[in-house]
Amino acid sequence: MRIVKMLKGGIALSILLFSCSKPASDENMTGTRPNILFIMTDDHAKNAMSIYNDRLIRTPNLDRIGEEGIVFNRSFVTNSICGPSRAVFLTGKYSHINGFKDNSSSFDSAQMTYPKILQKNGYYTAVVGKWHLKSVPAGFDYWNVLIGQGHYYNPTFVNMGDTSTIEGYATNVTTDLAIEALENRIPQGQPFCLMVHHKAPHRNWMPDTTHLKLGEQTYTLPDNLFDSYENRIAAAEQDQSIDRMFMSLDMKLDPDRVVETGTGGGPPGFNAVRSWENTYGRLTDAQKKAWDEYYMPISDKFFADPPEGKALVEWKYQRYMNDYLKSIVSVDENVGRLLDYLEEKGMLDNTLVVYTSDQGFYLGEHGWYDKRFMYEESFGMPLVMRYPPAIKPGTVSERLVMNLDFAPTVMEFLNIETNEPWQGRSILPFMKGEEVDDWRKGIYYHYYEYPHGWHKVKRHYGIRTDRYKLIHFYNDIDQWELYDLENDPEEMYNIYDDADPELIVGLKKQLDGLQEQYGDRVEE
Ligand code: CA
Repeated sequence: MRIVKMLKGGIALSILLFSCSKPASDENMTGTRPNILFIMTDDHAKNAMSIYNDRLIRTPNLDRIGEEGIVFNRSFVTNSICGPSRAVFLTGKYSHINGFKDNSSSFDSAQMTYPKILQKNGYYTAVVGKWHLKSVPAGFDYWNVLIGQGHYYNPTFVNMGDTSTIEGYATNVTTDLAIEALENRIPQGQPFCLMVHHKAPHRNWMPDTTHLKLGEQTYTLPDNLFDSYENRIAAAEQDQSIDRMFMSLDMKLDPDRVVETGTGGGPPGFNAVRSWENTYGRLTDAQKKAWDEYYMPISDKFFADPPEGKALVEWKYQRYMNDYLKSIVSVDENVGRLLDYLEEKGMLDNTLVVYTSDQGFYLGEHGWYDKRFMYEESFGMPLVMRYPPAIKPGTVSERLVMNLDFAPTVMEFLNIETNEPWQGRSILPFMKGEEVDDWRKGIYYHYYEYPHGWHKVKRHYGIRTDRYKLIHFYNDIDQWELYDLENDPEEMYNIYDDADPELIVGLKKQLDGLQEQYGDRVEE
């Protein structure tokens, strides 16, 4: 990697505050304290990871983690959007408690997080890549993070307060930084918790030029690409449909020839062409050459005979999938590179390797991209873990687990006792193939980013049980939705008005109970 620009950033470190915690025992399952490698991507749908679904892509390195460890088939987020989900992972508390409700928030870094507790217990803690919490990372011996959303090409990082732009592709560069930390920064013999947070596969889905050779593939259309949103007002009134994507920024058509008509989910006045020109403008001459060789013929073909109507939506879906999935090929290869490194150094089997995403994403289901809704595609997140001393290869869990559970899981995994009022529960028993009699029967969800922000997805909260999902959309509407996930896994039929009233009463009682338990009072 090559540093091309160095600027001094004026960022002050926050004061760290600790709650009481008992030091971890040196004795763990293997007699030594295990390391933690936490890899998180941004907006990776389960439907684009072959251990869950191999319709679109093969992801052998990501799958390896789950195949040699555990795959959680029902893992969910409490609030399906980038910053808030990251705050839940760190704190083990819901958005209304940790304060980061939507992407306009700033994380209160004085509060307790699991890296702070690990650091206090002798762990070397580090985070590289996307941070997205606005405030300065606290509780880390080393942090080197992207500013805001970051860039795919030649990204700018803030390294402990110093800003530098690093030439290369973000997924490769972030992995380079992780390996460099393992190689040079983490003291020999000290256990570590290394968090590797990729920008990919976040919008605007720019592949590495290396992967353009994979070419344009044709993917099967989702059954509900042309959803009519019958009986679902919030679904009808969102602004995250593929047919309104930007032709420049999203589709990568030549900005000189594009006439933008879609809103792209953006706020009024957002200029997609200018944004795309700025993004493309970051590329080096060599990167631009490789980029143009691939994308200009796509523009030529499009403008020679532009598709219209449904054909245009299908064309956009294919373009979207081609870029999104290529950016995941890079993630998969880079995760493989990191696993190989640990294996070569003899550290792999003493490291809990976790792969997840800050939430799921729509890959054309309901006609959408993006996330936010409590429907399965964006409410769910991939979650696989590998740690041979405790997790038997091929372990599969169908239990309802959440990002909320991660911090308390780490505490139990490392035998650290704290008095921290975690709202999640440790999922270590499932990792060990054990069962828990009094496990949760429902997951509570609450999304807030409306009416401000992108995509116009209305505020909602709800409960998901093994079989049913009850959602209440509120703020400028008042609509309940009920789905039978067994008979309607695609959530196309809102049965709220037709269902057995006793079923609804029971679910509402369960929902009230969860709001009470988590201390969430909804002001409607
Ligand atoms: Ca995200």
